[in-house]
Amino acid sequence: MDKIVSLCKRRGFIFPDSEIYGGLANTWDFGPLGAEMKNNIKKEWWKAMVWHRDDVVGLDSAVIVNPKVWEASGHLSSFTDPLVECKQCHTRFRADYLKEGKYGPVVEKEGVFYCPLCGGELTKEKKFNLMFKTYIGPAEETANIAFLRPETAQGIFINFKKVLTSSRKKIPFGIAQIGKAFRNEITPSNFIFRTREFEQMEMEYFISPEEDKKWYDYWKEIRWKWYLSLGMKEENLRQRPHQEKELAHYAKEATDIEFKFPFGWSELEGIHNRTDYDLKRHQQFSNKDLSYWDEETHQKYIPYVIETSAGVERSLLAFLINAYTEEQDKNKETRVVLRLHPKIAPIKLAVLPLLKNNKELVQTARDIFLKLQRQVDYLIDYDEVGSIGRRYRRQDEVGTPWCVTIDHQTLEDQTVTIRDRDTMKQERIKTEEITHWVEEKLCINSL
Ligand SMILES: [Zn+2]
Repeated sequence: MDKIVSLCKRRGFIFPDSEIYGGLANTWDFGPLGAEMKNNIKKEWWKAMVWHRDDVVGLDSAVIVNPKVWEASGHLSSFTDPLVECKQCHTRFRADYLKEGKYGPVVEKEGVFYCPLCGGELTKEKKFNLMFKTYIGPAEETANIAFLRPETAQGIFINFKKVLTSSRKKIPFGIAQIGKAFRNEITPSNFIFRTREFEQMEMEYFISPEEDKKWYDYWKEIRWKWYLSLGMKEENLRQRPHQEKELAHYAKEATDIEFKFPFGWSELEGIHNRTDYDLKRHQQFSNKDLSYWDEETHQKYIPYVIETSAGVERSLLAFLINAYTEEQDKNKETRVVLRLHPKIAPIKLAVLPLLKNNKELVQTARDIFLKLQRQVDYLIDYDEVGSIGRRYRRQDEVGTPWCVTIDHQTLEDQTVTIRDRDTMKQERIKTEEITHWVEEKLCINSL
């Protein structure tokens, strides 16, 4: 984990936020390569969930919505964590984590718990709502209290009817959304795994109540395969069905797709059978009819919902860990390689002149680079600093799948070498074939 964190900082994937001011605990910014990789993950999700299907459409709903939404969804009353505070050092802990020993050995005497940091007495448990509060308008009054959304799902439920009619879809059909969500976690942790501000990729699939089992199994499989299709190793993934006592207030059944992180198996994505809980509650609180008339079966019902809910940052971290490898080369030097799937690699192609001090090579390489930049719809890089071996290593370390090298032969016959990150094999192709060559590899890799 330390190696990943250090690589992320050094190469511009992820930086500690507000570092010039001493930072803000557990808050991170995504640097140039991190931003690219995040976008790639989101794009692949959107393609798989929306573009490649005719039963799912996209949505982009507001972060701050009518607070009634959170009353109806149950978040106002139930979205809480149990909180205790040390009377001596004032550190706050999640009571359930404390009792499980996650902060260190549990010290309890006659029902009173003691601080794992300083030994001071802890307060009684109180419920702490995880939603961030804010105010709408200039007056900070109770009447104006609003919340930053703790999940993107509710934006989908409140738009369900309008999306259904405007897109002329029939059940079964889904609505997908990518966006930020906010949770005032008591103890965020593990780098970007649990943060207060994060991005979700959520899809709510509306179905007939009689078919919930079928679609629940279907989406578990589809989502599992998505990770594999982007290079996730099967031994790093597992499915963990929730036990009844850990089910969220809205769920009938739930399964987590978990990844083997260095800190243990943890959730990447949840697949939930949310039943008709959300739509029923919104119908009740809004007094609007949210039922569906099924023309085929001549039945009227409130649809059931199967939800797939994934975290962007978590996926990114998992893909990085999954891809990280260290190899010894023949000179006994360590080669760090991010074996990222080309589709999510931040840079797809690097253009390198063999030598920096040869004007003709540099000029030709620049020309090829600038032309390619305008032709392709992914990020490419140009690098002329340092020996060619070093430059290959730099690209390996950030997961660039292919490097194009311009050498003396290029000047004679307009061919270049193209080097594969994983095999380190090089082949010679015509300059004009580069884009086609990469496109083809990207397609093969997605099968
Ligand atoms: Zn303490």
